[in-house]
Amino acid sequence: MDARYRSREIGRKAEDVDALKRSFLEWLVYSVGKDAKTATRRDWFTTGALSVRDRVVDRWMDTTRGVYAADAKRIYYFSMEFLVGRLLSNNLDNLGLTEVCRETVDRLGLRLEEVLEAEPDPALGNGGLGRLAACFLDSMATQHLPAFGYGIRYEYGLFEQRFDQGWQVEFPDNWLRFGNPWEFARPEVLYPIHFHGHVETYIDGAGMERRRWVGTETVHAMAFDTPVVGYGGETINTLRLWSARALSDFDFTHFNDGDYLKAVESKVLSENLSRVLYPNDATEVGRELRFKQEYFFTSASIQDILRRYMQHHKDFDALPEKAAIQLNDTHPAIGIAELMRILIDLHGLDWDRAWDITRRTFSYTNHTLLPEALESWPVGMMERVLPRHMQIIYDINARFLDSVWARSDIDTIRRLSLIDENGERRVRMGGLAFLGSHKVNGVSALHTDLMKQTVFADYHRLFPDRITNMTNGITPRRWLHQANPALSRLISSRIGDGWITDLGRLAVLKERVGDEVFQEEFRRAKRQNKKRLAAYIARHLRIDVDVDSLFDVQVKRIHEYKRQLLNLLQTVALYNEIRDNPTRDFVPVTKILAGKAAPAYHQAKLIIKLANDIGRVINNDPLVRGRLKLVMLPNYNVSQAEIIMPAADLSEQISTAGMEASGTGNMKLALNGALTIGTLDGANVEIRDHVGADNIFIFGMNAQEVQELRDQGAFDPRAVVGANPHLKRALDMIGGGAFSPDDPGRFRPIVDALLYNDHFLVTADFEDYRNSHATAVTLYRNKTEWTAKAIINTASMGWFSSDRTILDYAKHIWGVAPVLPGAGEAD
Ligand SMILES: *Cc1c(COP(=O)(O)O)cnc(C)c1O
Repeated sequence: MDARYRSREIGRKAEDVDALKRSFLEWLVYSVGKDAKTATRRDWFTTGALSVRDRVVDRWMDTTRGVYAADAKRIYYFSMEFLVGRLLSNNLDNLGLTEVCRETVDRLGLRLEEVLEAEPDPALGNGGLGRLAACFLDSMATQHLPAFGYGIRYEYGLFEQRFDQGWQVEFPDNWLRFGNPWEFARPEVLYPIHFHGHVETYIDGAGMERRRWVGTETVHAMAFDTPVVGYGGETINTLRLWSARALSDFDFTHFNDGDYLKAVESKVLSENLSRVLYPNDATEVGRELRFKQEYFFTSASIQDILRRYMQHHKDFDALPEKAAIQLNDTHPAIGIAELMRILIDLHGLDWDRAWDITRRTFSYTNHTLLPEALESWPVGMMERVLPRHMQIIYDINARFLDSVWARSDIDTIRRLSLIDENGERRVRMGGLAFLGSHKVNGVSALHTDLMKQTVFADYHRLFPDRITNMTNGITPRRWLHQANPALSRLISSRIGDGWITDLGRLAVLKERVGDEVFQEEFRRAKRQNKKRLAAYIARHLRIDVDVDSLFDVQVKRIHEYKRQLLNLLQTVALYNEIRDNPTRDFVPVTKILAGKAAPAYHQAKLIIKLANDIGRVINNDPLVRGRLKLVMLPNYNVSQAEIIMPAADLSEQISTAGMEASGTGNMKLALNGALTIGTLDGANVEIRDHVGADNIFIFGMNAQEVQELRDQGAFDPRAVVGANPHLKRALDMIGGGAFSPDDPGRFRPIVDALLYNDHFLVTADFEDYRNSHATAVTLYRNKTEWTAKAIINTASMGWFSSDRTILDYAKHIWGVAPVLPGAGEAD
């Protein structure tokens, strides 16, 4: 193993177990206030987390001191979401303490898994975007990059999803109810955040006209820090999340008037800022509170960065050499106007100097081209909530448009403007993020190309060097080493464990593709994982699934563009084929779906109900004889994904080409040895390039064909349906109530949307998908060939490590170098 990753605590020793056990019991008694007889599993989790945290703090401070002493350039990753998942298993694993801890809890008469599962899964994110931020934190710490994650400490994370008669119902995720042992509250790290008020003009001592923002309402942002443990436990970075605090508990004007409740009310209102995560994935619901959340955490983070910078510097000239701020989507883009405001209004820099510093400090990641997801805020609302920022945005816009006026026609100017003048005037946050950044990146090769051709085409012509591609990645620690111990052990037994931090080494496994013993062990690991998932399904849904059936998995947010509906239509077609051919020898298939729908996204919620209704009919049909099952698991989250990914045989990545920016679920599944059935969309294109076209099932239209078909405006889904008896029959059944006899018209809206519009081209890709699926299922009969392809998939995923992604960002966007552990110890 690389010496950089060898930690003092990797390798277990008897005294470690004794020490950890002592620490467990001390924490249990003195912090939790229980003894071993009365402790619940949750108490043991808390105890375990506090004991592990103890072992992190010294090195956490070493890391901070080392970076401080080196005055190194730091990465500041701004994200509204961090979908980190459970931390105890992750921290134990990265510290090399899992086996020590297993033995410790064993001696205390517990099973480690029970303790790990008592941790609430912190769901401070919706899906891919938030999970990417979490994978990046892991990779930045593992690669010894000095980095901070900045976000919001939501009191309520993403809702808990349950099914009531097959319908999604949402429950609040009160994840902090029993406290959070990982975080350190920093009541002294407190910044004022202003809203409303108005802007005054005045002449300063030097005779210069200046602006000041006055008469504001103010809340405080208070920091909570969570250590981010890199693999090997040497570099430990910080995730700093902000919580809203009222300036005072009472508004004394009301209090003195004798209105006690009114006096408390303002506290409650201001603290609403960090109350709840908005549950929309890839769609904006333009609510004022959401906008305030964005400004709240962005402003606090920038104030924190400038305070840290000023400990070493007298002016702002070197800021871009010391701080790289990465905007994870446009949610924190208001930070560009905020830094301008602070530099100009509070520190007296002139515009050009401030703009140069700002642009060299910020960079922006675009995550979607979906028009309904591109953030824009009404000018009127912004003028009310952040009047000074609105002026600065007007100034940025005026200077920019002046510079391009002479060489652009009026239509181009309209498209380039930061203000959308169609209808209610709105600020385009993507434009602000683009102009205020030195680099703008897409998240897969295809997505980056499409950015250049579509949403940012006009900007790209003016700034041809600004857009760059950074294909997403996933952390091999959580998604292979931790989630799949069986496969992990097998791999390490053959090639050592260097792959954990250098995933490219998996390529060596390609030599073993034809090795029968290796194949057999690879299959055994998969089967073990399938048994684990089958037990999970039985526990949660009381459905028995056949471990030897093909596990066909589609797990992700429910969204029309991701086309869960295409999967369901093919499932119904397969169901009909099985019923029509009672004696034919079918390969048993288990369809496994999971995912949450945004609470106001009615069509997506109806798709969930459809999946549950279809599942109920198929799973209980005696004619099917278990050869097809459909399972929809409730409450998809990181912990559930960790059980599903290692157990999958087939990975469904079937979005309409051109609509999925990258996907990362596709990477987790392929890394764990699932074959992909998918469209040429997002990172699927690059997965095909790496695993080879023979080891992936690609079907359907590509992005260009989708574009052309839409441009022609002549696509007729009814003609397609009319010409395809499989599809027609499936739609007739769904629309006619075959799966909803209690309410035969229930799914008419779904069928009608397909017949009369089919914006996502489900019908257009149906037949090709059905055939491709049949090819995959047939191949599954041939265990040797299937396993060979699965091994090639795992072995080819090295490039999709988020370590690779992060090192690309560090080199090409941030200009940040690793700070090796111990760097600060000499001085
Ligand atoms: C990886 C992951 C996602 C993203 O999945 P996609 O298939 O890329 O959309 C969403 N949610 C969770 C919990 C994940 O782990």
